Amino acid sequence: MSLFPPRESVVDVLLPVAVGSAYSYRVPEGMEVAPGDIVVVPLGPRMMLGCVWPPAENPKPVDPAKLKPIHRKYDVASLSPAMLAFIRWIADYTVTPPGMVLRLALRHDESAGISRERTGVRLTDQRPQRRTAARERVIEALADGFVRSKTDAAREAGVSPSVVDGLVDDGVLETVVLPPEPAAERPDPDHSAPELLPAQRDAADRLVEAVKARAFRPYLIDGVTGSGKTETYFEAVAETIRQGRQVLILMPEIALTQAFLDRFARRFGVKPAEWHSAVGTKRRGRVFKGVSSGEVSVVAGARSALFLPFRDLGLVIVDEEHDSAYKQEDGVHYHARDMAVVRARLEEAPVVLVSATPSIETEVNARRGRYSRLHLPERFAGTKVPRLEPIDLRKEGPPRGQWIAPRLAAEMERTIEAGGQALLFLNRRGYAPLTLCRACGHRIRCPSCSSWLVEHRFRRRLECHQCGYATPVPNECPNCHEPNSLIPCGPGVERLHEEVAKLMPNARLQVLSSDLAGGVERLRAELKAIEDGAVDVIVGTQLVAKGHNFPGLALVGVIDADVGLGHGDPRAAERTFQLLHQVAGRAGRHEKEGRAFLQTYMPEHPVMQALVAGDRDAFYDREIGVREEAHLPPFARFCALIVSGTDAHAAQAHARALAACSPLSNEVRVLGPAEAPLALVRGRHRYRLLARSDRGFDLSNYVRAWMAGAPRATGNLRVEIDIDPQSF
Ligand code: ADP
Ligand code: ZN
Repeated sequence: MSLFPPRESVVDVLLPVAVGSAYSYRVPEGMEVAPGDIVVVPLGPRMMLGCVWPPAENPKPVDPAKLKPIHRKYDVASLSPAMLAFIRWIADYTVTPPGMVLRLALRHDESAGISRERTGVRLTDQRPQRRTAARERVIEALADGFVRSKTDAAREAGVSPSVVDGLVDDGVLETVVLPPEPAAERPDPDHSAPELLPAQRDAADRLVEAVKARAFRPYLIDGVTGSGKTETYFEAVAETIRQGRQVLILMPEIALTQAFLDRFARRFGVKPAEWHSAVGTKRRGRVFKGVSSGEVSVVAGARSALFLPFRDLGLVIVDEEHDSAYKQEDGVHYHARDMAVVRARLEEAPVVLVSATPSIETEVNARRGRYSRLHLPERFAGTKVPRLEPIDLRKEGPPRGQWIAPRLAAEMERTIEAGGQALLFLNRRGYAPLTLCRACGHRIRCPSCSSWLVEHRFRRRLECHQCGYATPVPNECPNCHEPNSLIPCGPGVERLHEEVAKLMPNARLQVLSSDLAGGVERLRAELKAIEDGAVDVIVGTQLVAKGHNFPGLALVGVIDADVGLGHGDPRAAERTFQLLHQVAGRAGRHEKEGRAFLQTYMPEHPVMQALVAGDRDAFYDREIGVREEAHLPPFARFCALIVSGTDAHAAQAHARALAACSPLSNEVRVLGPAEAPLALVRGRHRYRLLARSDRGFDLSNYVRAWMAGAPRATGNLRVEIDIDPQSF
């Protein structure tokens, strides 16, 4: 016989904090809650949003009288059983407390805390006892009998909100709850569907069939840029909307994809709901609710959209699935592409990965038949993807201090004279990546990171791209104090811009990088200007490589094709191939054939060879072979442990202590500690341990057991667990 009343009056609530398990709370009389409900509960002196968690298998008996009660139920949204399973799965896989994963899901209005209901005021029959001119104006403004928010009422009457409050207190006005603003209009699946080409039709039919089957099935849409991958998956989106289910479209750089939203609107009549960091808090709150109620049927968002509480998710799309922006590198370390596949599985929905240059992981999955490949071999417009022509910098490079080879310069002039646009691609922000003292050889470093300071001439300062530290460009060497001895080394986009301006004084130039003052709005405006042909030469970083559609772009010049190679990063070849292929693909998307040039010191490098030959399979065959032979992902699994602290010795010692207590296993090798690839960031010294296992091994479980038996990190030491790290 139990000592306590039935368990129904006690529930576990998971809170968005870094503890291992849920807390118990008492359910007040008259309240009904179920797992997945979001509730407001007290924790210490604070009120917090949490999620009612499924009961533990063997709950400990507790006396409800000793528990704090749930404060209230947050009626706005709840999490589905699939979502709860997803939170658990990610927590397990990434070796993170589930509360930290829940925090990703509840982040929508963390700042607002608990969102309030929208209320308004309207006139009652009561007349005011005290009459003032201000009060009369409010009454007059509301005489039409319509409801207004308090702020609107005050603004219309030209009085302060306290006047409105006073009238509410006197009963002259009454407060009413307003219906929620609609989160999104419903997209129309048949608004304007294009006639598909046969290859597109075949691919679309298979996706539509998968949507109808309401089962987990992974696909890869593999097609060159401009082959209609988007049009094709739009058919699956349309079918999902017809079925009354929801769609999540993940994109790597959503803040910049205005063009995508417009295009979606042309196809479906309305834009999808957007979800990313640039969306305001209020709007986020509305989308969060709408997604939970099912009112929002399509969300296009950055990786964080993966954690939205969809009521009935029926399709997941991961556009540009190879993009490294999908990897979250702080807090909970996760790869949004991989987690999208997991979420789709838990929701029993198809998932579609989309790319012209799939990641090695995805390519291997497609080759092994784990993902069905839908191939779109040709561009819709009939043009060819431009071949990349190498310019061997050893033989035909520019004079010292310049960066554009004479052949490229000549081609640019020809292109512009013919009315086309040229894009120079250089993945280096600022003016010069390094500042050096001519007298003593000193190189200027960030005081708190292991990175060089980058000169930004437009802003007249040196900046750290790691931590944001900035300082005016000094007049003398900080080391030997020789005046005017500092020289910029190497090119950044600002310096390249200077060179183009000298070469082509009449050309209209635009530099595009994330340094562009004016933020996303300005960037969108500049992209539009380029699209409209108001720019002749674009000088840009990888910002311009992604997804934009520049109809007039006829020539692409890659200034330094070798930038990303040879840092000992095992993904360097893959990244370089993808990026350069993508940049070249910006050219000639419409009627005109495009051309692309690669300036390189290593024309014989396999990546350059594959790009120049236009032989994608050659690249994948080779790279997959290298990975397999060297026992690297996806043929092995890695987990990185990064130990950091302000004291280098303490951090290193802790890393060694962790290594020493790693559980013995025939399946796992622990490598390190060694300095992490970024050895110093924001004043924190970083050491890295790598655990490696075979593919099929449960490395998360191993790391969990390891950490359970490991010494605690004390002081400001921190241990981050990065499963499936990007570098290994
Ligand atoms: P991808 O996503 O593969 O780069 P898109 O879907 O963006 O290709 O298509 C490239 C261009 O061709 C777009 O302007 C698109 O509207 C157009 N397009 C592709 N397929 C069709 C089609 N079947 N009918 C009309 N236009 C199409
Ligand atoms: Zn720094």
